[in-house]
Amino acid sequence: MELNKSEGILKSSHENSEMKVTIWGARGSFPSPLVPGVVQERIRSNIKRFVQQAHGDLKNETDFFSKLARHHSGGYGGNTPCLEVSAGSNSVIIDGGSGIRPLGYELLKGPCGQGQGEVHIIFTHFHWDHIIGLLFFTPIFIPGNRIHVYAVQPELEQVFRMLFQKPFFPVPLEKLGSRIEYHRLEPRVPFELGGMQITPYQLDHPDPCWGFKFEKNGRAFSHCVDTECTRFTPAELGPDLPLYRGLDLMIFDAQYTLVETIEKVDWGHATASLGIDMAMREGTKRVVFMHHDPASSDEKIAAAESQAQRYYQHQLARADLAEGKVSEVQWAFGYDGMVLEV
Ligand SMILES: [Zn+2]
Ligand SMILES: [Zn+2]
Repeated sequence: MELNKSEGILKSSHENSEMKVTIWGARGSFPSPLVPGVVQERIRSNIKRFVQQAHGDLKNETDFFSKLARHHSGGYGGNTPCLEVSAGSNSVIIDGGSGIRPLGYELLKGPCGQGQGEVHIIFTHFHWDHIIGLLFFTPIFIPGNRIHVYAVQPELEQVFRMLFQKPFFPVPLEKLGSRIEYHRLEPRVPFELGGMQITPYQLDHPDPCWGFKFEKNGRAFSHCVDTECTRFTPAELGPDLPLYRGLDLMIFDAQYTLVETIEKVDWGHATASLGIDMAMREGTKRVVFMHHDPASSDEKIAAAESQAQRYYQHQLARADLAEGKVSEVQWAFGYDGMVLEV
């Protein structure tokens, strides 16, 4: 069955987009690169498929490779959470997982490469997978750059002191080069950054973790990652309900399969079916799932995506009976390098 992951999910449902979201790290908990053996096996099995399905006809090569399932080609990626949200020439980074390392190289092509850059990073929380990439975020080492960091939690500066210190890392905080400026965010109070309005709302995670709602000219996108979403109904969510309401795009935690969420109660992560239900109830147009479990192979993530598709079809059929009280949702599993227009 063809999954509900058409490339259409990448585009805004409006003619022009207001924001652009790039996923630099879609993996949760720990960086998990593709190992050489897996890559070799993929190449071998794809050559076999090419010979069998396209009869080795090189004219069909592009067509053949564009139709390969994600788990047979590039996979979902192994870098831990880092997103870039751009509005025009401004951008805001969410989290400093290992995905921020390649983003740093990209930023070096602009003012950051000349020590004239200004970078804004907001943090959901400080679990290792969301800060580990800061150690290799090159713009931070270039004198003249200003790195603004933001969090609701009061420990922000302490986290940077802990990361950049001997004997764990050779360069102490004082010798980084760039100037780091710390900003404390107020829970549920909107602030302006890069021409966007951003509001922190609390998620459901073992250590306090904050989701962010981005709004610009009537478009809205929310980042809801590292959450078990134990509060689900509007009454349970209370003051945090706006995080899930009125969205063009929601990025949601799908670390586990449905069965695993039952085995891993209180581990702080959710599953795709929960995000689908939330989006159908709230009328969210598009959902992208990430924070894939590091223990999951690309094949297992693809199987979870198929499971979510069956769940979605079931919920849609049930919704018909309930006279359209919920809406259809376009959704897909995210991957490193995915770019979404909002
Ligand atoms: Zn995480
Ligand atoms: Zn976490």
